[in-house]
Amino acid sequence: MNLTFSLIKPSAMDRCEEILMAIKAGGFSVLSMKTQQLTLSQVKKFYEEHAEKSFFTSMCERLALGPVLLMALYEPNGTDTPLKFRKLLGATDPKQALEGTLRKQFGVDLDANAVHGSDSEISAIRELSFFFCGMETG
Ligand code: ATP
Repeated sequence: MNLTFSLIKPSAMDRCEEILMAIKAGGFSVLSMKTQQLTLSQVKKFYEEHAEKSFFTSMCERLALGPVLLMALYEPNGTDTPLKFRKLLGATDPKQALEGTLRKQFGVDLDANAVHGSDSEISAIRELSFFFCGMETG
């Protein structure tokens, strides 16, 4: 699959132009994007697979703190785009992320790790549908 979903978190929106440039420099094109203020209930639905985690509530609250940039990314002749984008994204904790990754460059800590990217093709389809086919409403 040559599509994936990404989101710039509220804590990194002040650097969204730089992040977009880094995403494009990494070989990904933006098929569609929109800035949106997510409600807490949208975020909880989006992260529902993490509902049992101890940090679920704080993770959701942080994502609803301000506007986010939602992006459908693609590689015209690519395959395995979700996995390739996760490589550009880097480790969840920016302190563990490799040099050159988005989270190393733009993340601060686990709470403010700048960017989200779908972790598989199935997640990418679900997350793209969620935000770009109206499923986030309600
Ligand atoms: P994301 O889903 O944001 O792309 P990820 O797939 O790399 O991140 P997950 O394990 O899905 O990591 O965690 C979702 C988010 O929850 C992380 O981006 C991070 O902000 C936060 N998080 C992860 N682990 C912890 C933790 N131990 N304590 C607090 N927050 C955490």
